[in-house]
Amino acid sequence: MEDHEPVGPVDASRIPRYAGENTFARLPRLADVREADTVLWGVPFDTGVSYRPGARFGPAHVRASSKLLRPYNPALDTEPFARGQVADGGDAGVNPFDIRDAIGTIERCARELSGTNRRLLSIGGDHTIALPLLRVQRERHGPVAVLHFDAHLDTWDTYFGAPYTHGTPFRRAAQEGLIDLAHSMHVGIRGPLYSGLDLEESERLGFAAVHARDFLRSPIDELIGRVRERIGNRALYVSVDIDVLDPGFAPGTGTPEAGGLSSRELLEILRGLRGLDIVGADVVEVSPAYDHAEITGIAAAHVLYELLSVLPGRARS
Ligand code: MN
Ligand code: MN
Repeated sequence: MEDHEPVGPVDASRIPRYAGENTFARLPRLADVREADTVLWGVPFDTGVSYRPGARFGPAHVRASSKLLRPYNPALDTEPFARGQVADGGDAGVNPFDIRDAIGTIERCARELSGTNRRLLSIGGDHTIALPLLRVQRERHGPVAVLHFDAHLDTWDTYFGAPYTHGTPFRRAAQEGLIDLAHSMHVGIRGPLYSGLDLEESERLGFAAVHARDFLRSPIDELIGRVRERIGNRALYVSVDIDVLDPGFAPGTGTPEAGGLSSRELLEILRGLRGLDIVGADVVEVSPAYDHAEITGIAAAHVLYELLSVLPGRARS
């Protein structure tokens, strides 16, 4: 795109943060800018959940919880809204009654919205949405490295016979050849499983893993080193299931598991991705009905802020 100044968030010295536009971080709408390098958009879909529903309300909640985000990120000495044009692309109109139809719509909308070279940051919605989002990435970049933050593996095969659920997107994506498995990794895995086979099957697919317990014994810089070494210079897709955080930091989610990461740990790992070739990302599974005082919404908003801070600023040329 041309090198004109990006339009930033609404000036908080003119309109207070609790007023005005309901876009993410009070950024401009996509229709209100000439071009965009990065588009945040909502995918309000939760028909794929296995336990608590409600993630269809995630995009609106995360936007509402993002109003306090300020322009300068001191941890990385960067201004995430000024490194390129960031805009809010609104929400996808997704069928709540038919999962296959919804997956098709998400894929089509993501393809349209990302144009020829924009980066998409998607706000879920349940984790089912990662499958169509990865299909679009595969078209552009070939199989991508996936860095998957989650309490759960999401590599299960079927549930009640259903192949497309929020517990299966990375199995389907692996089978469809969307993922560069030799450079992909889960982070934050924990909690009771059906059996040890769950872990074995994820490994057999080719995923590496940093487990939540690893955070007890390894310094964060060492863990960041493991992640970066695994990804290397590959095109990277980052998928953050907010339940990677401990329920104390993210109660508002569908399948909570005790013993998770703190927001401080998650945000620091995301900062550690600076310089990698991140081609897109999602933050999923925020279910506002189980949230209190915007705890989960704020965590998700800050995850998106750190992702914006480490994304290459300008669109891929
Ligand atoms: Mn999960
Ligand atoms: Mn998940």
